[in-house]
Amino acid sequence: MAQGDYDLIVIGGGSGGIAAARQAAGYGARTLLVEGDRLGGTCVNVGCVPKKVMWNAAHMASTLNQAKEYGFEININSFDWATLKAARDDYVKRLNGIYQRNLDNSNVARIEGWAQFIDPHTIGVGEKQYTATHLLIATGGRPLVPNIPGRDLGLTSDGFFELEKRPGRVCIIGAGYIATELAGVLNDLGSDVTLVLRRELLLRPFDHTLRETVMAQMHSDGVNILTCIQLQALEKEPNGRIALTREDGGRIEGFDAVIWAIGRTPNSDQLALGKAGIKTDDNGFIITDRWQNCSAAGVYAVGDVTGRLQLTPVAIAASRYLMDRLFGGDKEARLDYEAIPSVVFSHPPVGTVGLTEDQARSCYGDDVKIYQNRFTNILYAITEEKRPTVVKLITTGPDERVIGCHVVGDGADEMIQGFAVALKMGATKADFDRTVAIHPTAAEELVTLR
Ligand SMILES: Cc1cc2nc3c(=O)[nH]c(=O)nc-3n(C[C@H](O)[C@H](O)[C@H](O)COP(=O)(O)OP(=O)(O)OC[C@H]3O[C@@H](n4cnc5c(N)ncnc54)[C@H](O)[C@@H]3O)c2cc1C
Repeated sequence: MAQGDYDLIVIGGGSGGIAAARQAAGYGARTLLVEGDRLGGTCVNVGCVPKKVMWNAAHMASTLNQAKEYGFEININSFDWATLKAARDDYVKRLNGIYQRNLDNSNVARIEGWAQFIDPHTIGVGEKQYTATHLLIATGGRPLVPNIPGRDLGLTSDGFFELEKRPGRVCIIGAGYIATELAGVLNDLGSDVTLVLRRELLLRPFDHTLRETVMAQMHSDGVNILTCIQLQALEKEPNGRIALTREDGGRIEGFDAVIWAIGRTPNSDQLALGKAGIKTDDNGFIITDRWQNCSAAGVYAVGDVTGRLQLTPVAIAASRYLMDRLFGGDKEARLDYEAIPSVVFSHPPVGTVGLTEDQARSCYGDDVKIYQNRFTNILYAITEEKRPTVVKLITTGPDERVIGCHVVGDGADEMIQGFAVALKMGATKADFDRTVAIHPTAAEELVTLR
């Protein structure tokens, strides 16, 4: 028997689901949110937030290393992983509470449990059923683990955040931004890090200049990067450590921890989607059109479960536009997935927006002009270590419209948001040139490129 009667039911209380529920309730829609785990989803609990705290710690470690050359006489006696983890966990708990209060204050009804479809307008949670005119799937994803012997000897990024102590010798398997970020954090915090790639380069969807620069810097920072490795199994060694065996018969031994970071799989398999006629692609990602509509009328999906750009602000923005359309009277509201900026919290970080050089050349052929500069940030003027900065602009057409802006270097993470505004507005190279530089910064190099 169906219970409750809502205008909107949201399945999943992560970045997308919470944003949608609050926006809809703000328009007066009777809204129910169902979440089976901690509020805040991946980003708050096992993603962006705890990751950024760890990156901050790693950044602090490298700043402390430079302090002496800046005249500070300091002794660093130790680094206590457990203290950092406890403080980080407390912060995440505080955020869980804030999300709960925000939902309550927004008049969103909430139940804890795992939802499944009964039909396109009804879900079941445990023994109970709930109906709504509109249903939003915002169930995110989870780390992918390959189906090979010994797979459970490895952790995932979720397990990384549960580590009670820093692993001495750690192997990270993967080439995406999560693998890159975890490798950099652990390396800067003192672990002996091996990064295992299936192919030759890190960060596949990113511009090749960024990929090469990050990879070379990781090498010189001491990360052991092994390329073109086809794994066969993980094995426990007699000494309790973990070994990787390769398809060619080789072995890589002696790890205290192995972390899988080979991608993410959507949380769509437990939803009984077939009962509502909701289609997925071959990898289980829910198929949506430009308006976030699923294949069943009245059912929508946003965020990681759709397989589009898997980023928190993307899930949030897609949700808010959708609610504007469904309940706010804006029939044209939808997220434009073009020119969405993103950051890789590597060391140094990457900031990127728009097309890569390869994408630009395949879209515009020879009508592409590249401006690029490589330099050393003034931060390193008096230090022995010199991490590079590279800035790159990609333009097209006679007016040299900027269609790609890529930066790797200190400060790139905070720099790229403003340049993303410029790209979104259709800025040309001449607009960049007309903008007076701020000196001495790394960002000024983007408006002085020749
Ligand atoms: C290590 C890591 C680092 C990241 N760093 C960044 C970053 O720096 N910047 C960035 O923008 N993005 C980052 N991301 C990605 C970001 O976390 C996701 O893009 C974002 O959380 C997606 O939001 P979502 O709402 O689609 O899903 P989620 O936030 O994953 O939320 C989905 C929720 O649905 C719940 N759920 C699933 N199935 C059901 C069900 N049947 N019933 C009820 N509830 C259900 C889940 O428990 C979960 O709480 C990172 C991800 C990881 C793993």
